[in-house]
Amino acid sequence: MREPGLRLTASDPDETRAIGARLAGALLAAGLREPFVVGLTGDLGAGKTTLVGGLLAALGHEGPARSPTYSLVEPYRLAGRDVHHCDLYRLRDPGELEDLGLRDLLAGSSILLVEWPERAGDRLREPDLNLHLEYTDAGRQVAVAASSEAGRQVLSALRFDGT
Ligand code: ADP
Ligand code: MG
Repeated sequence: MREPGLRLTASDPDETRAIGARLAGALLAAGLREPFVVGLTGDLGAGKTTLVGGLLAALGHEGPARSPTYSLVEPYRLAGRDVHHCDLYRLRDPGELEDLGLRDLLAGSSILLVEWPERAGDRLREPDLNLHLEYTDAGRQVAVAASSEAGRQVLSALRFDGT
């Protein structure tokens, strides 16, 4: 069952980063004990990596986020958790994910942030929370939807941290 989503707007890149920071707070507030998958969908240039940069910084990463454009996955250890940032845009075949060991990344209280999750086909389970970014005249709109119990917990933490 999908809970009605949440729509957030960002009029510049700093506001997109701030949404990422707010999501970081919600992820920590939800006290996750299982692996959690965040999907980031939307056109090239919609702001997915910018949002992840704000999220990683809020979890304590210093400096710019490394780009997973070619490596497909960049690992971090932040706030006592394994956090993996994946960008599957360049994935040619979902089978390549076996080499990446994507499944093994989903252990403990790890957080997986996946740009272009749709490229994984059925090699990746449905994200607990999906953020869909779109261009608008005023900047960007981010539609957040949950598809699991853990996702709904994070979504309500996001809601109550209203701006
Ligand atoms: P994606 O990962 O979705 O391809 P990026 O995060 O790389 O997109 O962002 C592409 C460009 O959009 C960057 O130059 C970034 O600064 C800009 N951007 C991000 N958020 C906004 C916003 N809210 N308004 C205007 N530009 C933005
Ligand atoms: Mg990107």
